[in-house]
Amino acid sequence: MQHPTRTLTVLGATGSIGRSTLDVAARHPGRYRIFALAAHRQADALAELCLRHAPRYAVLGDEAAVPALRARLAAAGATTEVLAGEQALAAVSAHPEVDTVMAAIVGAAGLQPALAAARAGKRVLLANKEALVMAGEVFLRACRDGGASVLPIDSEHNAVFQCLPAGYRAGGAPPGVRRILLTASGGPFRRASAAEMRSATPQQACAHPNWSMGRKISVDSATMMNKGLELIEASYLFGVPESRLEVLVHPQSIVHSLVEYEDGSMLAQLGHPDMRTPIAHALAHPERIDSGVAPLGLAAIGRLDFEAPDSGRFPCLGLAYDALRAAGAAPCVLNAANEEAVAAFLGGGIGFTDIARVVDAVLGALGARAAGADVEHVLEIDREARALARARLARCAA
Ligand code: NAD
Ligand code: MG
Repeated sequence: MQHPTRTLTVLGATGSIGRSTLDVAARHPGRYRIFALAAHRQADALAELCLRHAPRYAVLGDEAAVPALRARLAAAGATTEVLAGEQALAAVSAHPEVDTVMAAIVGAAGLQPALAAARAGKRVLLANKEALVMAGEVFLRACRDGGASVLPIDSEHNAVFQCLPAGYRAGGAPPGVRRILLTASGGPFRRASAAEMRSATPQQACAHPNWSMGRKISVDSATMMNKGLELIEASYLFGVPESRLEVLVHPQSIVHSLVEYEDGSMLAQLGHPDMRTPIAHALAHPERIDSGVAPLGLAAIGRLDFEAPDSGRFPCLGLAYDALRAAGAAPCVLNAANEEAVAAFLGGGIGFTDIARVVDAVLGALGARAAGADVEHVLEIDREARALARARLARCAA
């Protein structure tokens, strides 16, 4: 069968999702052409990827890393052109030759380039859940106005998408759905005591039992804020209120999520905990391609367990439900405070259980604000929430 060649920009190319995307694309050389690779400031890692995938552009978020990348590429005789800064990230996301953008920058930094892709009507493969949490309405409006389609990469949302009727487009409310159940592994502290969690180190928090991921999302999985952000993400993507969203702890991470219909049917998507499956699904949609993931041996796995989450030891989950119910600016405030608190924890400045405490305080102070009507307003709320979070963090550290 003949396939059109898809031309791809990968934002967050040096990260866990970015590398998995390039791994899948490289298995289908005639099918995917890499137009641009973007990263923050990891010149060596980006140079290596450029030499392997020969993109037309390499983009760095941080201008200071440009000379090192140019020198590495020139020494190897590569023709990739190096750009830097927020405008360049947006330009390679909206470029007319690009049809598909993998949005896999971590955190709020990913919002503007993802918006640029949405406004330009691209197929947006959305891994950057923080962009949707902080600016869900603004982002979905940009997709509608620009004619963009969103394909969820987050494994739970990709699973839900796969369980919805063929032809469903993310952003709309799917017919006949009673509930959406997001599964959660429970993270590294599923069985930990409250005292163990109080003294948890960044290394322990990042040691996820099933998934290999970047450090920020790994800490989010340990606090279960990741599942909280995913509830908000699901509410925007699938047009369902908080009352029809549920979290189910499933320690094996084989069932990636479920959709319950009005007639009592429940559909689930199963697979190994390997992000190359949802990435391959979204890259080829509506076709199917090899992802490099081995077949699932259910007899060897033997059993699949499910349990309710423990909201006492994982207060971040309740905070995310609160933010979802409050709507307005609350999800943006939650996300900003969480990003600051996680960075402080990873930097050794605060304890693990301080993360929820700081998010709670910032959400209490600013969570009742109205939603940002446009991206500038969203960024203003984000800045204000970060400033307050930093003040609280300084108090925790003192
Ligand atoms: P990571 O930390 O491994 O990689 C992050 C990437 O973003 C890197 O390439 C980094 O250079 C880039 N980046 C960071 N700040 C930037 C900036 N200011 N400008 C330009 N580039 C910048 O993270 P990850 O685990 O790959 O996660 C990426 C996103 O995907 C996150 O939003 C995460 O929540 C989501 N996600 C990840 C997984 C996973 O399995 N890793 C699963 C679901 C969702
Ligand atoms: Mg997920």
